Order: sequence, then structure tokens, then C-alpha cells
Amino acid sequence: MKSCEIIQDLMPLYSDKTISDDGRAMVKEHLAECDSCTAYLKMVREPASPTNRPYILSDNLYYRAIATRYRKKKAVMKALMVSAGVMCLGAVTYSLVKASPL
Ligand SMILES: [Zn+2]
Repeated sequence: MKSCEIIQDLMPLYSDKTISDDGRAMVKEHLAECDSCTAYLKMVREPASPTNRPYILSDNLYYRAIATRYRKKKAVMKALMVSAGVMCLGAVTYSLVKASPL
């Protein structure tokens, strides 16, 4: 069923009861005739554990890996910015000291 993807995207909102009335009606109507989305809703509502939510776990690992890579990149950029700043400050100080008539 094509609309399963849409319904499953709405599932967290449906489960948290933050979905619009139209959305809730649409999800309810779909759940009445779709076993896989009903099973999906059950997984969304159950607390996370490695056995019943393997797809979430793999997503978490994936995003954690990306976050780690991003953090490393950010640290390298920060170090480069700090050293560039120090060099600029040094150049300005040097030129001021050289130009001062002391
Ligand atoms: Zn479905």
C-alpha cells in the first residue's frame, strides 16, 4: 500500500495525540484495514529495546556516527580558526609595535 509510508510518518504525532483531527481520522481509517501499520504503531508506542526496535537502533547508530564525524570536523575547524585568529592578532601587534615611534 502506497499510503503506508505517509501513515507511518504521522505515527509519532498520532501516538502523542498531537496530530490534527483530519490526520487522526486518516490514520484511524488506515489502521482499520492495514496490519503492518497497526504493528508499526505498536512498536512506536512500546518503549525502545534492541529486540523490538531494531530499525530505531540502527538509525541511532547511523546518526551517532554522523554526529561523531561532524563533531570531529567542528573541532578541527575550531582549532584552525583559533590559530588563524592568533596569527592575525600577532601580525596586527607586530605591525603596531613596528609602526609605533617608541
Ligand atoms: Zn499501512
